[in-house]
Amino acid sequence: MGKIVILTGAGISAESGIRTFRASDGLWEEHRIEDVASPDGFRRDPDLVYRFYNLRRQQLLSPEIEPNAAHLALARLERAYDGEVVVVTQNIDDLHDRAGHGESRLLHMHGELLKARCLLCDTIAEFRTDFDGQTPCPACGEAGGLRPHIVWFGEMPLYMDEIYHHLSGCDLFAAIGTSGNVYPAAGFVEAAAAHGARTVELNLEPSRVHSAFDEAHQGPATETVPRWVDALL
Ligand code: NAD
Repeated sequence: MGKIVILTGAGISAESGIRTFRASDGLWEEHRIEDVASPDGFRRDPDLVYRFYNLRRQQLLSPEIEPNAAHLALARLERAYDGEVVVVTQNIDDLHDRAGHGESRLLHMHGELLKARCLLCDTIAEFRTDFDGQTPCPACGEAGGLRPHIVWFGEMPLYMDEIYHHLSGCDLFAAIGTSGNVYPAAGFVEAAAAHGARTVELNLEPSRVHSAFDEAHQGPATETVPRWVDALL
């Protein structure tokens, strides 16, 4: 059996109650993306940025937010498939983690909402509570260095070497719930195809890069993903 690489985006978490990015006119939860997801925005108004991610974190940890049938189907695929499965997610939520994946098989390329990074000592620590510019770092004890462990526009996504290594050795590449607007992730389909992988898109509507895929399944992720996983298994 071959190796499968799956790229997921905000669309896979939409039916869990977490809003996607661009669905609402380029705004993310009523904010301009450059205000809350860029280093410049953070420099201009750090309090707004801390508040924004504190609210996103509180929402993610509220009891009504749970992994949906699509997250669970991918975890099932990883357990039952006779080859290697790697999930690369652009999502900063932890819904894939909660659905159950081996740690080395899930790469959060845009960071994680439940972590903070200290700019003073470089430590990345789990944070399930609010934090801001006054919160001391749990590792070095200094205040003023913590920022959300999120890759903002203009910053380098995480695990890129590992991801391109997986793409260059995969037999099947699938993109689920991602608009194809954000690079480098939007270019993964071409990288996988260049190495001979078959490519599949599962999205509510054709993405911006839909013509690069061999096959498409349109519809809500909670319907298309379990069906696709059943067919693979
Ligand atoms: P996007 O918001 O740009 O696009 C979402 C895509 O999902 C769209 O093409 C839409 O048609 C599709 N979609 C919406 N509902 C769907 C459903 N029920 N089933 C299947 N598809 C559905 O998202 P993106 O491409 O991931 O890029 C946005 C960036 O925003 C990412 O970098 C991510 O870090 C960040 N983000 C993350 C979250 C999260 O962690 N859940 C939420 C919002 C934004």
